[in-house]
Amino acid sequence: MRGLLLAALLLALPARAQAPYSGAEWGRLATPTPGATRIIGGTGLGCIAGAAQLPAEGAGFEAVRRYRNRHWGSPHLVAFLTDLAGQARAAGFPPLLIGDMSQPRGGPMSSGHASHQNGLDADIWLDLRGLPAGSRAWAEGEGPPVLVLPDETEVDPSRFTPNHARLIRLAVSQPGVDRILVNHGIKRSLCRMHRGEPWLRRVRPWRGHDSHMHVRLRCPAGQTDCQDIAPPPPGDGCDASLDWWLSEEARNPPRRPPPPAPIMPASCGPVFSAR
Ligand SMILES: [Zn+2]
Repeated sequence: MRGLLLAALLLALPARAQAPYSGAEWGRLATPTPGATRIIGGTGLGCIAGAAQLPAEGAGFEAVRRYRNRHWGSPHLVAFLTDLAGQARAAGFPPLLIGDMSQPRGGPMSSGHASHQNGLDADIWLDLRGLPAGSRAWAEGEGPPVLVLPDETEVDPSRFTPNHARLIRLAVSQPGVDRILVNHGIKRSLCRMHRGEPWLRRVRPWRGHDSHMHVRLRCPAGQTDCQDIAPPPPGDGCDASLDWWLSEEARNPPRRPPPPAPIMPASCGPVFSAR
């Protein structure tokens, strides 16, 4: 009798397996979950149900390195990218090269990104060479050109052009953008060219990002499980916080023991295990 009771109790319990925090395991999920879109958690610890896929190409854009299966995201991110591509094309830019977005169900990745987990991030290559569609340059792993000097103090003037700044401004000026991350050397040069202009506030300095810009959207209305991070502070960001990136502390960060693996939001369990 007790056994029967226990069995009945177990059957009544909903399946709430904890999702692993493992890029290898999330990366094996080849398809999105069907149904309505649900953005869960933040870009650095989260997942997405009902993700949409960016088409391989369209008016003014091409998705690069499709074999990674990372061109998934919130439908409003897909709409944002196709709309931005149309505007860029109308402004005379070559096709935008869209790199990694999220995996079909988001989550951590086995390589390349700490964020990009909940379908709100996209990398756009700062490559305005206008190479032919499907060019071997990116199909076979070669990346876009590095735009900053080796010491990262500023952009490489032989490669970075005012058109790169125009494209960053066009992207960051779209509604719904939380911020765009670029290398601090790119930000420093933008500060020199455009100091005081309000759009610089959402162009934030980071490591890497010397050949692409990382666009992050805010949580759309109605996605109550989606977590934004704090907005950028007021001002253009052309200040001491930017100079910090050239400090010894930033260049050679002190070694710390790795933090324990984070715990995925409970709502990501059913997203991970759905068939
Ligand atoms: Zn990125």
